[in-house]
Amino acid sequence: MADMTAANAIAPLTALTEEERMFQAATREFAEKEIRPHVEPMDREGVFRHELMDTFFEQGFMGLEVPEPYGGSGGSFFMAILAIEEFSRVDASAGVVIDVQNTLVNNALQRWGSEAQKQKFLPRLVRDTVGAYALSEPNAGSDAFALATRARPEGDHFILNGRKLWITNAKEAGLFIVFATVDPALGYKGITAFLIERDTPGFSVGKKEDKLGIRASSTCELILEDCPVLRANALGEVGKGYKVAMETLNEGRIGIGAQMLGVARGALEHAIAYAKERKQFGHPIADFQAIQFQLARLATEAEAARLMTYNAARLKDAHLPFMKEAAMAKYFCSQVAERVASECLEVYGGYGFTKDYPAEKYLRDSKIGKIYEGTSFMQLQTIAKLILA
Ligand SMILES: Cc1cc2nc3c(=O)[nH]c(=O)nc-3n(C[C@H](O)[C@H](O)[C@H](O)COP(=O)(O)OP(=O)(O)OC[C@H]3O[C@@H](n4cnc5c(N)ncnc54)[C@H](O)[C@@H]3O)c2cc1C
Repeated sequence: MADMTAANAIAPLTALTEEERMFQAATREFAEKEIRPHVEPMDREGVFRHELMDTFFEQGFMGLEVPEPYGGSGGSFFMAILAIEEFSRVDASAGVVIDVQNTLVNNALQRWGSEAQKQKFLPRLVRDTVGAYALSEPNAGSDAFALATRARPEGDHFILNGRKLWITNAKEAGLFIVFATVDPALGYKGITAFLIERDTPGFSVGKKEDKLGIRASSTCELILEDCPVLRANALGEVGKGYKVAMETLNEGRIGIGAQMLGVARGALEHAIAYAKERKQFGHPIADFQAIQFQLARLATEAEAARLMTYNAARLKDAHLPFMKEAAMAKYFCSQVAERVASECLEVYGGYGFTKDYPAEKYLRDSKIGKIYEGTSFMQLQTIAKLILA
Protein backbone atom coordinates (compact mmCIF):
# COMPACT_ATOMS: atom_id res chain seq x y z
CA MET A 1 0.00 0.00 0.00
CA ALA A 2 1.25 3.51 -0.80
CA ASP A 3 2.84 5.42 2.07
CA MET A 4 0.36 8.18 2.94
CA THR A 5 2.26 9.76 5.83
CA ALA A 6 2.13 13.54 5.89
CA ALA A 7 5.73 13.85 4.69
CA ASN A 8 5.02 11.82 1.56
CA ALA A 9 1.53 13.06 0.79
CA ILE A 10 1.21 15.13 -2.36
CA ALA A 11 -0.38 18.54 -1.65
CA PRO A 12 -3.86 19.10 -3.10
CA LEU A 13 -3.84 21.38 -6.15
CA THR A 14 -5.66 24.15 -4.32
CA ALA A 15 -3.40 24.03 -1.24
CA LEU A 16 -1.38 27.23 -0.98
CA THR A 17 1.83 27.84 0.92
CA GLU A 18 1.68 30.35 3.76
CA GLU A 19 3.38 32.93 1.53
CA GLU A 20 0.92 32.29 -1.31
CA ARG A 21 -2.06 32.52 1.04
CA MET A 22 -0.90 35.86 2.41
CA PHE A 23 -0.19 37.15 -1.08
CA GLN A 24 -3.62 36.03 -2.30
CA ALA A 25 -5.38 37.74 0.63
CA ALA A 26 -3.41 40.97 0.14
CA THR A 27 -4.12 40.94 -3.61
CA ARG A 28 -7.84 40.36 -3.02
CA GLU A 29 -7.96 43.25 -0.57
CA PHE A 30 -6.06 45.49 -3.00
CA ALA A 31 -8.46 44.61 -5.83
CA GLU A 32 -11.51 45.33 -3.66
CA LYS A 33 -10.19 48.61 -2.27
CA GLU A 34 -8.23 50.08 -5.16
CA ILE A 35 -9.74 48.62 -8.34
CA ARG A 36 -13.44 48.00 -7.55
CA PRO A 37 -14.45 51.69 -7.15
CA HIS A 38 -13.17 52.50 -10.67
CA VAL A 39 -14.47 49.50 -12.61
CA GLU A 40 -17.76 50.95 -13.86
CA PRO A 41 -16.45 54.36 -15.04
CA MET A 42 -13.35 52.81 -16.64
CA ASP A 43 -15.57 50.36 -18.55
CA ARG A 44 -18.01 53.10 -19.59
CA GLU A 45 -15.28 55.47 -20.74
CA GLY A 46 -13.02 52.78 -22.19
CA VAL A 47 -10.00 54.24 -20.42
CA PHE A 48 -7.69 52.74 -17.84
CA ARG A 49 -7.12 55.08 -14.90
CA HIS A 50 -3.57 56.33 -14.91
CA GLU A 51 -3.33 56.59 -11.12
CA LEU A 52 -4.45 52.97 -10.78
CA MET A 53 -1.67 51.80 -13.08
CA ASP A 54 0.78 53.78 -10.89
CA THR A 55 -0.50 51.86 -7.85
CA PHE A 56 0.13 48.55 -9.64
CA PHE A 57 3.79 49.59 -9.95
CA GLU A 58 4.01 50.87 -6.37
CA GLN A 59 2.59 47.61 -4.99
CA GLY A 60 4.92 45.42 -7.07
CA PHE A 61 2.23 43.91 -9.32
CA MET A 62 4.12 44.80 -12.50
CA GLY A 63 7.21 42.75 -11.67
CA LEU A 64 5.90 39.77 -9.77
CA GLU A 65 8.35 37.22 -11.12
CA VAL A 66 11.25 39.56 -11.80
CA PRO A 67 14.19 38.64 -9.54
CA GLU A 68 14.97 41.02 -6.71
CA PRO A 69 18.38 42.15 -8.08
CA TYR A 70 16.43 43.79 -10.96
CA GLY A 71 14.00 45.41 -8.52
CA GLY A 72 11.22 42.83 -8.84
CA SER A 73 9.25 40.92 -6.25
CA GLY A 74 11.11 37.64 -6.95
CA GLY A 75 7.88 35.62 -6.78
CA SER A 76 6.82 32.48 -8.64
CA PHE A 77 4.80 32.12 -11.82
CA PHE A 78 2.02 30.69 -9.64
CA MET A 79 1.87 33.95 -7.67
CA ALA A 80 1.44 35.91 -10.89
CA ILE A 81 -1.44 33.56 -11.75
CA LEU A 82 -3.05 34.20 -8.34
CA ALA A 83 -2.79 37.95 -8.89
CA ILE A 84 -4.31 37.78 -12.40
CA GLU A 85 -7.19 35.69 -11.02
CA GLU A 86 -7.86 38.06 -8.12
CA PHE A 87 -7.66 41.20 -10.28
CA SER A 88 -9.95 39.65 -12.93
CA ARG A 89 -12.50 38.63 -10.32
CA VAL A 90 -13.02 42.39 -9.89
CA ASP A 91 -12.08 43.62 -13.37
CA ALA A 92 -10.78 41.60 -16.33
CA SER A 93 -9.17 44.73 -17.81
CA ALA A 94 -7.02 45.17 -14.71
CA GLY A 95 -6.27 41.45 -14.95
CA VAL A 96 -4.97 41.67 -18.51
CA VAL A 97 -2.80 44.71 -17.73
CA ILE A 98 -0.75 42.70 -15.24
CA ASP A 99 -1.08 39.53 -17.29
CA VAL A 100 0.65 40.99 -20.36
CA GLN A 101 3.29 42.72 -18.23
CA ASN A 102 4.17 39.62 -16.20
CA THR A 103 3.49 36.55 -18.31
CA LEU A 104 4.50 37.95 -21.71
CA VAL A 105 6.81 40.97 -21.52
CA ASN A 106 8.81 40.42 -18.32
CA ASN A 107 8.80 36.71 -18.96
CA ALA A 108 10.21 37.00 -22.51
CA LEU A 109 12.88 39.42 -21.34
CA GLN A 110 13.89 37.21 -18.40
CA ARG A 111 14.04 34.13 -20.56
CA TRP A 112 15.57 35.48 -23.78
CA GLY A 113 17.16 38.80 -22.88
CA SER A 114 20.94 39.35 -22.74
CA GLU A 115 22.29 40.47 -19.37
CA ALA A 116 22.65 44.02 -20.76
CA GLN A 117 18.99 44.01 -21.90
CA LYS A 118 17.81 42.72 -18.55
CA GLN A 119 19.83 45.34 -16.66
CA LYS A 120 18.48 48.08 -18.88
CA PHE A 121 14.81 47.16 -19.14
CA LEU A 122 13.71 44.96 -16.23
CA PRO A 123 14.13 47.62 -13.50
CA ARG A 124 12.08 50.01 -15.63
CA LEU A 125 9.33 47.45 -16.25
CA VAL A 126 9.12 46.90 -12.52
CA ARG A 127 9.21 50.60 -11.61
CA ASP A 128 7.19 52.63 -14.10
CA THR A 129 7.20 51.30 -17.68
CA VAL A 130 4.23 49.40 -19.09
CA GLY A 131 5.15 46.69 -21.60
CA ALA A 132 3.30 45.44 -24.70
CA TYR A 133 3.73 42.33 -26.82
CA ALA A 134 3.19 42.81 -30.55
CA LEU A 135 2.85 39.72 -32.71
CA SER A 136 -0.53 40.02 -34.50
CA GLU A 137 -1.04 41.92 -37.73
CA PRO A 138 -4.06 42.71 -39.91
CA ASN A 139 -3.37 39.61 -42.04
CA ALA A 140 -1.57 37.45 -39.49
CA GLY A 141 -3.72 36.40 -36.54
CA SER A 142 -4.08 32.65 -36.01
CA ASP A 143 -1.43 32.30 -38.72
CA ALA A 144 0.85 34.58 -36.69
CA PHE A 145 4.08 33.56 -38.41
CA ALA A 146 2.74 34.83 -41.73
CA LEU A 147 3.56 38.28 -40.38
CA ALA A 148 4.66 40.90 -42.92
CA THR A 149 6.49 43.44 -40.74
CA ARG A 150 9.96 43.59 -42.21
CA ALA A 151 13.30 44.14 -40.42
CA ARG A 152 15.98 45.08 -42.95
CA PRO A 153 19.60 44.87 -41.66
CA GLU A 154 21.59 48.09 -42.08
CA GLY A 155 24.93 48.44 -40.29
CA ASP A 156 24.45 48.03 -36.58
CA HIS A 157 20.69 48.54 -36.94
CA PHE A 158 17.60 46.87 -38.35
CA ILE A 159 15.12 49.14 -40.10
CA LEU A 160 11.56 48.07 -39.35
CA ASN A 161 8.51 48.70 -41.52
CA GLY A 162 5.00 47.37 -41.02
CA ARG A 163 1.86 47.41 -38.91
CA LYS A 164 0.79 45.54 -35.82
CA LEU A 165 -2.83 45.20 -34.78
CA TRP A 166 -4.70 44.51 -31.51
CA ILE A 167 -1.83 45.34 -29.19
CA THR A 168 -2.87 45.23 -25.53
CA ASN A 169 -1.46 47.97 -23.24
CA ALA A 170 -0.20 49.88 -26.30
CA LYS A 171 -1.73 53.22 -25.27
CA GLU A 172 0.16 53.23 -21.97
CA ALA A 173 3.24 51.22 -22.92
CA GLY A 174 6.80 52.54 -22.98
CA LEU A 175 8.42 49.31 -24.18
CA PHE A 176 7.23 47.01 -26.96
CA ILE A 177 8.34 43.53 -27.94
CA VAL A 178 7.76 43.59 -31.68
CA PHE A 179 8.05 40.56 -33.97
CA ALA A 180 9.27 41.11 -37.54
CA THR A 181 10.88 39.05 -40.27
CA VAL A 182 14.43 39.64 -41.45
CA ASP A 183 13.64 37.73 -44.66
CA PRO A 184 10.13 36.62 -45.67
CA ALA A 185 11.68 33.90 -47.91
CA LEU A 186 12.90 32.15 -44.75
CA GLY A 187 9.33 31.65 -43.48
CA TYR A 188 9.10 31.28 -39.70
CA LYS A 189 12.92 31.01 -39.54
CA GLY A 190 13.18 34.72 -40.43
CA ILE A 191 11.12 35.88 -37.50
CA THR A 192 12.95 37.95 -34.90
CA ALA A 193 11.83 39.69 -31.71
CA PHE A 194 12.89 43.30 -31.09
CA LEU A 195 12.75 45.55 -28.04
CA ILE A 196 11.45 48.94 -29.13
CA GLU A 197 11.09 51.99 -26.94
CA ARG A 198 8.08 54.19 -27.53
CA ASP A 199 10.06 57.30 -28.47
CA THR A 200 12.03 55.53 -31.24
CA PRO A 201 11.81 57.56 -34.49
CA GLY A 202 9.41 55.99 -37.02
CA PHE A 203 7.44 54.22 -34.29
CA SER A 204 3.91 55.30 -33.41
CA VAL A 205 0.80 54.01 -31.69
CA GLY A 206 -2.27 54.26 -33.92
CA LYS A 207 -6.00 53.79 -33.56
CA LYS A 208 -7.41 52.47 -30.29
CA GLU A 209 -10.18 49.89 -30.67
CA ASP A 210 -13.66 50.49 -29.23
CA LYS A 211 -14.43 47.04 -27.88
CA LEU A 212 -17.27 44.84 -26.59
CA GLY A 213 -15.42 43.80 -23.42
CA ILE A 214 -12.25 44.51 -21.42
CA ARG A 215 -13.01 48.05 -22.54
CA ALA A 216 -10.62 49.75 -20.13
CA SER A 217 -7.69 47.72 -21.42
CA SER A 218 -6.20 49.56 -24.40
CA THR A 219 -5.95 47.67 -27.71
CA CYS A 220 -4.19 49.64 -30.44
CA GLU A 221 -2.50 49.49 -33.80
CA LEU A 222 1.28 50.05 -34.03
CA ILE A 223 2.87 51.71 -37.02
CA LEU A 224 6.53 51.23 -37.94
CA GLU A 225 7.87 53.48 -40.69
CA ASP A 226 11.61 53.19 -41.30
CA CYS A 227 12.02 52.62 -37.58
CA PRO A 228 15.71 52.04 -36.67
CA VAL A 229 16.32 49.44 -33.97
CA LEU A 230 19.81 48.62 -32.73
CA ARG A 231 20.96 45.04 -33.37
CA ALA A 232 21.66 44.99 -29.65
CA ASN A 233 17.90 45.31 -29.13
CA ALA A 234 17.09 42.03 -30.87
CA LEU A 235 15.56 39.80 -28.17
CA GLY A 236 17.05 36.33 -28.49
CA GLU A 237 18.80 35.21 -31.65
CA VAL A 238 17.99 36.67 -35.05
CA GLY A 239 15.68 34.17 -36.77
CA LYS A 240 14.58 32.59 -33.48
CA GLY A 241 11.68 34.94 -32.79
CA TYR A 242 9.18 32.14 -33.47
CA LYS A 243 10.62 30.28 -30.48
CA VAL A 244 10.38 33.41 -28.30
CA ALA A 245 6.75 33.87 -29.38
CA MET A 246 5.68 30.24 -29.02
CA GLU A 247 7.30 29.64 -25.68
CA THR A 248 6.11 32.89 -24.11
CA LEU A 249 2.58 32.35 -25.36
CA ASN A 250 2.54 28.85 -23.89
CA GLU A 251 3.00 30.46 -20.50
CA GLY A 252 0.75 33.40 -21.31
CA ARG A 253 -2.13 31.02 -21.94
CA ILE A 254 -2.13 29.97 -18.31
CA GLY A 255 -2.50 33.67 -17.51
CA ILE A 256 -5.58 33.90 -19.73
CA GLY A 257 -6.92 30.79 -17.99
CA ALA A 258 -6.49 32.67 -14.69
CA GLN A 259 -8.15 35.76 -16.11
CA MET A 260 -11.18 33.72 -17.20
CA LEU A 261 -11.25 31.89 -13.87
CA GLY A 262 -11.39 35.29 -12.15
CA VAL A 263 -14.25 36.39 -14.43
CA ALA A 264 -16.21 33.20 -13.64
CA ARG A 265 -15.67 33.60 -9.90
CA GLY A 266 -16.62 37.28 -9.92
CA ALA A 267 -19.83 36.64 -11.89
CA LEU A 268 -20.77 33.75 -9.64
CA GLU A 269 -20.18 35.61 -6.36
CA HIS A 270 -22.41 38.48 -7.52
CA ALA A 271 -25.14 36.08 -8.67
CA ILE A 272 -25.09 34.16 -5.36
CA ALA A 273 -25.45 37.41 -3.38
CA TYR A 274 -28.30 38.54 -5.65
CA ALA A 275 -30.11 35.19 -5.41
CA LYS A 276 -30.14 35.49 -1.62
CA GLU A 277 -31.62 39.01 -1.77
CA ARG A 278 -34.13 38.87 -4.60
CA LYS A 279 -37.58 37.72 -3.50
CA GLN A 280 -40.28 36.18 -5.67
CA PHE A 281 -43.31 34.17 -4.58
CA GLY A 282 -42.51 35.32 -1.03
CA HIS A 283 -39.06 33.69 -0.96
CA PRO A 284 -35.49 34.61 -1.87
CA ILE A 285 -34.95 33.04 -5.32
CA ALA A 286 -31.99 31.14 -3.76
CA ASP A 287 -34.64 29.02 -1.98
CA PHE A 288 -35.78 27.55 -5.30
CA GLN A 289 -34.08 24.31 -6.15
CA ALA A 290 -33.71 25.23 -9.83
CA ILE A 291 -31.61 28.29 -8.89
CA GLN A 292 -29.67 26.27 -6.30
CA PHE A 293 -28.81 23.60 -8.86
CA GLN A 294 -27.88 26.16 -11.48
CA LEU A 295 -25.48 27.91 -9.08
CA ALA A 296 -24.10 24.58 -7.86
CA ARG A 297 -23.38 23.46 -11.43
CA LEU A 298 -21.64 26.73 -12.28
CA ALA A 299 -19.58 26.62 -9.07
CA THR A 300 -18.48 23.09 -10.01
CA GLU A 301 -17.38 24.26 -13.44
CA ALA A 302 -15.44 27.17 -11.92
CA GLU A 303 -13.73 24.76 -9.53
CA ALA A 304 -12.67 22.54 -12.44
CA ALA A 305 -11.31 25.65 -14.22
CA ARG A 306 -9.33 26.51 -11.09
CA LEU A 307 -7.80 23.02 -10.87
CA MET A 308 -6.71 23.10 -14.51
CA THR A 309 -5.19 26.57 -14.21
CA TYR A 310 -3.37 25.88 -10.96
CA ASN A 311 -2.09 22.55 -12.25
CA ALA A 312 -0.65 24.12 -15.41
CA ALA A 313 0.99 26.89 -13.35
CA ARG A 314 2.45 24.43 -10.83
CA LEU A 315 3.84 22.30 -13.69
CA LYS A 316 5.50 25.39 -15.13
CA ASP A 317 7.07 26.33 -11.80
CA ALA A 318 8.26 22.72 -11.37
CA HIS A 319 10.00 22.89 -14.80
CA LEU A 320 7.83 20.02 -16.05
CA PRO A 321 6.18 19.93 -19.51
CA PHE A 322 3.00 22.02 -19.48
CA MET A 323 2.14 22.94 -23.09
CA LYS A 324 -0.88 20.63 -23.32
CA GLU A 325 -2.16 21.57 -19.86
CA ALA A 326 -1.77 25.30 -20.63
CA ALA A 327 -3.73 25.00 -23.88
CA MET A 328 -6.40 22.91 -22.14
CA ALA A 329 -6.66 25.39 -19.25
CA LYS A 330 -7.11 28.34 -21.58
CA TYR A 331 -9.60 26.48 -23.75
CA PHE A 332 -11.64 25.22 -20.81
CA CYS A 333 -11.53 28.34 -18.63
CA SER A 334 -12.72 30.57 -21.47
CA GLN A 335 -15.68 28.25 -22.06
CA VAL A 336 -16.48 28.16 -18.36
CA ALA A 337 -16.21 31.95 -18.00
CA GLU A 338 -18.64 32.54 -20.84
CA ARG A 339 -21.13 29.95 -19.62
CA VAL A 340 -20.94 31.05 -15.98
CA ALA A 341 -21.23 34.75 -16.88
CA SER A 342 -24.16 34.09 -19.22
CA GLU A 343 -26.14 31.94 -16.78
CA CYS A 344 -25.36 34.28 -13.87
CA LEU A 345 -26.88 37.10 -15.89
CA GLU A 346 -30.08 35.04 -16.14
CA VAL A 347 -30.17 34.70 -12.34
CA TYR A 348 -30.79 38.47 -12.28
CA GLY A 349 -33.76 38.18 -14.67
CA GLY A 350 -34.38 41.48 -16.48
CA TYR A 351 -32.05 43.40 -14.18
CA GLY A 352 -29.13 41.34 -15.45
CA PHE A 353 -29.75 42.71 -18.92
CA THR A 354 -29.12 46.27 -17.77
CA LYS A 355 -25.97 48.16 -16.89
CA ASP A 356 -27.28 48.73 -13.36
CA TYR A 357 -25.77 45.39 -12.31
CA PRO A 358 -22.32 43.95 -13.06
CA ALA A 359 -23.62 40.75 -14.69
CA GLU A 360 -23.61 42.06 -18.27
CA LYS A 361 -20.01 43.31 -17.94
CA TYR A 362 -18.78 39.89 -16.83
CA LEU A 363 -20.45 38.38 -19.91
CA ARG A 364 -18.90 40.98 -22.24
CA ASP A 365 -15.48 40.50 -20.63
CA SER A 366 -15.69 36.71 -20.86
CA LYS A 367 -15.83 36.72 -24.69
CA ILE A 368 -12.18 37.66 -25.17
CA GLY A 369 -10.91 34.46 -23.53
CA LYS A 370 -11.82 32.44 -26.61
CA ILE A 371 -10.06 34.87 -28.94
CA TYR A 372 -6.69 36.22 -27.83
CA GLU A 373 -3.40 34.38 -27.31
CA GLY A 374 -4.73 31.83 -29.79
CA THR A 375 -8.43 31.24 -30.47
CA SER A 376 -10.18 28.17 -29.05
CA PHE A 377 -9.67 26.36 -32.38
CA MET A 378 -5.93 27.05 -32.14
CA GLN A 379 -5.88 25.60 -28.60
CA LEU A 380 -7.69 22.50 -29.88
CA GLN A 381 -5.15 22.24 -32.70
CA THR A 382 -2.29 22.29 -30.15
CA ILE A 383 -4.01 19.75 -27.87
CA ALA A 384 -4.83 17.46 -30.81
CA LYS A 385 -1.23 17.57 -32.08
CA LEU A 386 0.06 16.60 -28.65
CA ILE A 387 -2.39 13.79 -27.94
CA LEU A 388 -2.04 12.32 -31.44
CA ALA A 389 1.76 12.52 -31.56
C1 LIG B 1 -8.82 42.66 -27.26
C2 LIG B 1 -7.70 42.00 -28.00
C3 LIG B 1 -6.42 42.08 -27.49
C4 LIG B 1 -5.36 41.49 -28.17
N1 LIG B 1 -4.07 41.65 -27.70
C5 LIG B 1 -3.02 41.22 -28.46
C6 LIG B 1 -1.68 41.53 -28.09
O1 LIG B 1 -1.41 42.15 -27.06
N2 LIG B 1 -0.68 41.14 -28.91
C7 LIG B 1 -0.90 40.45 -30.06
O2 LIG B 1 0.06 40.12 -30.76
N3 LIG B 1 -2.16 40.14 -30.45
C8 LIG B 1 -3.23 40.51 -29.68
N4 LIG B 1 -4.52 40.22 -30.06
C9 LIG B 1 -4.76 39.49 -31.32
C10 LIG B 1 -5.29 38.09 -31.11
O3 LIG B 1 -4.29 37.25 -30.63
C11 LIG B 1 -5.90 37.63 -32.46
O4 LIG B 1 -7.08 38.36 -32.64
C12 LIG B 1 -6.16 36.15 -32.48
O5 LIG B 1 -4.96 35.43 -32.51
C13 LIG B 1 -7.02 35.74 -33.68
O6 LIG B 1 -6.52 36.27 -34.86
P1 LIG B 1 -7.52 37.05 -35.86
O7 LIG B 1 -8.25 38.05 -35.08
O8 LIG B 1 -6.73 37.51 -37.03
O9 LIG B 1 -8.56 35.94 -36.33
P2 LIG B 1 -8.36 34.82 -37.51
O10 LIG B 1 -7.03 34.21 -37.35
O11 LIG B 1 -8.68 35.48 -38.80
O12 LIG B 1 -9.47 33.82 -37.13
C14 LIG B 1 -10.85 33.96 -37.51
C15 LIG B 1 -11.57 32.65 -37.18
O13 LIG B 1 -11.03 31.59 -37.97
C16 LIG B 1 -10.60 30.53 -37.15
N5 LIG B 1 -9.42 29.88 -37.73
C17 LIG B 1 -8.30 30.47 -38.22
N6 LIG B 1 -7.44 29.55 -38.65
C18 LIG B 1 -8.02 28.34 -38.44
C19 LIG B 1 -7.63 26.98 -38.65
N7 LIG B 1 -6.45 26.66 -39.18
N8 LIG B 1 -8.48 26.00 -38.31
C20 LIG B 1 -9.68 26.29 -37.75
N9 LIG B 1 -10.11 27.55 -37.51
C21 LIG B 1 -9.29 28.56 -37.86
C22 LIG B 1 -10.29 31.18 -35.79
O14 LIG B 1 -10.36 30.23 -34.73
C23 LIG B 1 -11.40 32.23 -35.73
O15 LIG B 1 -12.58 31.62 -35.27
C24 LIG B 1 -5.59 40.77 -29.37
C25 LIG B 1 -6.92 40.67 -29.86
C26 LIG B 1 -7.94 41.28 -29.20
C27 LIG B 1 -9.34 41.18 -29.77
